[in-house]
Amino acid sequence: MSARVETDDDIRLMFAADASGLRYVPEGVARPESVEEVMEVVRRAADAKTPVTPAGMQTSTTGASITGEGVLLSLRALSPIIDIDRQARLVRVSAGAILGDVKRLAAAEGLLLAPDPTSEEESSVGGAIACNASGARTLKYGATREHVQSVKVVLASGEVVDFRRSGLEKNTAGYAFAHEPVDWFVGSEGTLGVVVEAELSLLPLPERVIGLEIPFANERDALAFVVAARESSRVFPRCLEYFDELAVEIARNSEGLVPDSGTMVYVEQEAETLDAWLALSEQHNAQVDDVRVFDGEQALATARRIRHAVPATMNERGSGHRHAGGRKVSTDWAVPYRRLHEAITMSRELARQAGIAQAVTYGHAGNGHPHQNYIARNVEELEAIERVVEETLRSVVAMGGTVSAEHGIGKLKRRWLPLQLSPIELGVMRSVKRELDPLGILAPGNIF
Ligand SMILES: Cc1cc2nc3c(=O)[nH]c(=O)nc-3n(C[C@H](O)[C@H](O)[C@H](O)COP(=O)(O)OP(=O)(O)OC[C@H]3O[C@@H](n4cnc5c(N)ncnc54)[C@H](O)[C@@H]3O)c2cc1C
Repeated sequence: MSARVETDDDIRLMFAADASGLRYVPEGVARPESVEEVMEVVRRAADAKTPVTPAGMQTSTTGASITGEGVLLSLRALSPIIDIDRQARLVRVSAGAILGDVKRLAAAEGLLLAPDPTSEEESSVGGAIACNASGARTLKYGATREHVQSVKVVLASGEVVDFRRSGLEKNTAGYAFAHEPVDWFVGSEGTLGVVVEAELSLLPLPERVIGLEIPFANERDALAFVVAARESSRVFPRCLEYFDELAVEIARNSEGLVPDSGTMVYVEQEAETLDAWLALSEQHNAQVDDVRVFDGEQALATARRIRHAVPATMNERGSGHRHAGGRKVSTDWAVPYRRLHEAITMSRELARQAGIAQAVTYGHAGNGHPHQNYIARNVEELEAIERVVEETLRSVVAMGGTVSAEHGIGKLKRRWLPLQLSPIELGVMRSVKRELDPLGILAPGNIF
């Protein structure tokens, strides 16, 4: 039985950090092993009006999975993959299952679990649902939300409920946001309920995928190529990822399999369209003689490692400065993809004016969504970087963009949410929160 709340210092410290660089020591930790135990923990917390923050693998980059208030509810032990239905293309999983494990099980059945955050080998299913995690292949398949068919949720009262997508194609009964309650919990960052199980839809595993690393001498050509590839009727990428010069340099130091200089676009395509890609690359001044082709599962895994090396290296660099109050500062904004070059150029100009080092910029250019990683070496640099980020976000929102496309709001990005959402929009969100969690005990400090 592990519904009890542990208060030993060593256990509390084990759950005090995530990938945000923040640190909050919980007052207690619960590590339930069954849905009934989760219900009991939450019921007791509701009786005592004690806050409860759900956590999966704690890879959150926004401090969403840590808390200094009340109980940290770790779902890691709730890990079985319950069953997979090949005919219906559905997999039922417990919240603590690791996304990468579920993917491998699906692949063994000839099926694809589409959500692909870079952290998929370290991310729980519950965490991916609660953050609506997405990745490079979101360009073709959509984010986690599109693949969640049902959720079993322990509500703030401790009661358990099941929500399933309606499957309806037409529905005019009431407000649209009440039509698919599954959507309330996807992206809710632990604030509306504890996801204990979910049913995820699967796709047929593509027969052949090729990856291409396409080098460019400069950012302008690379990002014009991205727009052309999105709008082409001859190529149909499942991902379109950009690496600026600094990101290429990091990838080169870790794997070596990247261009010697300049920027790079990485694309993946199901089926054979190499000629069409080369023609499009040539039209946009790519260095076509240096295009590298990744063919087959093993080669694609190498390409994925190259991509992963960039955030992993930047996390390491950031942690090296924690003693002086520094850390990695990671932006997660997105704009309509046609405006990406304009937005990145604007952010670089703001950094230049503030006298801070340029961010390493990489990521999901096809969705207008780059990651920009700055390294603050001390408190002063942190403050200067945060000012640049805030100015960048103001301009991004003015371009029709979002302050967070992938990693959620958590605690770190809370102050930037009102840049994007109006008081009316925030008010409606607060009403939903009040209705589902009237005592405000779930994940306090996340989002609001
Ligand atoms: C190196 C690195 C790369 C990353 N790359 C990506 C990426 O490509 N795409 C992306 O989207 N994210 C990425 N992330 C962020 C993060 O890994 C993902 O959001 C991940 O899906 C979170 O899963 P987790 O199990 O670690 O959740 P946690 O970090 O433990 O929790 C995240 C949030 O979900 C809530 N939560 C967790 N479990 C539950 C549950 N069962 N019920 C209710 N709420 C719950 C928590 O309260 C918290 O608000 C990356 C992080 C790192 C460190």
